[in-house]
Amino acid sequence: MKIAIAGAGAMGSRIGLMLHQAGNEVILIDRWPEHIKTIREKGLIGTFEDHEIVAHLPIFSPEEIVADHATVDLVVALTKSMQLEAMFQDIKPIIGEKTFVFCLLNGLGHEETLAKFVPRENIIFGTTTWTAGLAGPGHAKLVGTGSIELENLAPKGKAFTLEVLEVFQQAQLNPIYSSNVRYSIWKKACINGTLNGLCTILDCNIADLGSLQVTKGLLQAIVAEFAAVAQAEGIELNQHQVIQAIEATYDIKTQGLHYPSMYQDLILNHRKTEIDYINGAVWQKGQNYQIATPYCAFLTQLVHGKEELLQAN
Ligand code: NAD
Repeated sequence: MKIAIAGAGAMGSRIGLMLHQAGNEVILIDRWPEHIKTIREKGLIGTFEDHEIVAHLPIFSPEEIVADHATVDLVVALTKSMQLEAMFQDIKPIIGEKTFVFCLLNGLGHEETLAKFVPRENIIFGTTTWTAGLAGPGHAKLVGTGSIELENLAPKGKAFTLEVLEVFQQAQLNPIYSSNVRYSIWKKACINGTLNGLCTILDCNIADLGSLQVTKGLLQAIVAEFAAVAQAEGIELNQHQVIQAIEATYDIKTQGLHYPSMYQDLILNHRKTEIDYINGAVWQKGQNYQIATPYCAFLTQLVHGKEELLQAN
């Protein structure tokens, strides 16, 4: 399969590398000049737990790829949320009538964005438990294992989605065909909507958050807001199940000592966060449905305030 990875940062590098190793024709698309230069000169380095590989994958900026005009079978979207629309605006010419887009971003609202560029029957959505980091330009840190849940948005897209499932299976990315990917997206957004923002603002890891007296009340309030807005969109989020999933992350033997990705982006690297697509999206959608979401609104504004203080970009 000819596959373009739109956004070849940490996760895009992992997925691109694994699909390439399984024999697919993979091209990376990214805007980061040092990343492009390093991959062209030295290849993409992937450091796994017990071994390292170097893959010579083609990488292009959106402008370069468009000049080529070759359409692809599949675009895997892996930018940060706030970069998605600009990326698709730039790469429009490589999206042909038969091209499918597979969105693996975290957060809410991407369906509306992608529907501006591709018919809904050509859109696949997914969530993943794989993780990845970057040690520097051209160097991905790929520890741990994971799986990917995926589903076509419209029934007509099912046949090709099953082909994608097969390709991801061969790449050992552990795909699972989902019966309700929208539910999984909301559930993951809700987990991120508590752990990410709260650990970032409180400047603590997940176990510390879990040990605070105020946390239970905050979780219940935030999860209730997500559930109310999800319900307006036809998703019945099971609040008890979501809170249990959040509380399960406090254990220091599993994820407790981990600082969520928003913390790493903003506090450690002074990069802008995806808050507008998590709590901010619930706040925004809540306004449209006339549902009050004061905790999501407050947390979104606090994170934006922190971004301003740290001059994040
Ligand atoms: P990322 O920030 O590593 O990559 C996204 C873009 O950021 C890339 O296009 C890259 O050019 C750019 N970038 C990365 N480091 C940069 C730097 N130092 N300077 C300038 N530009 C830089 O993002 P990601 O972690 O791959 O996440 C992509 C999507 O996947 C997000 O929606 C995220 O929430 C989701 N996700 C990530 C993980 C993970 O473990 N990283 C896991 C699950 C889902």
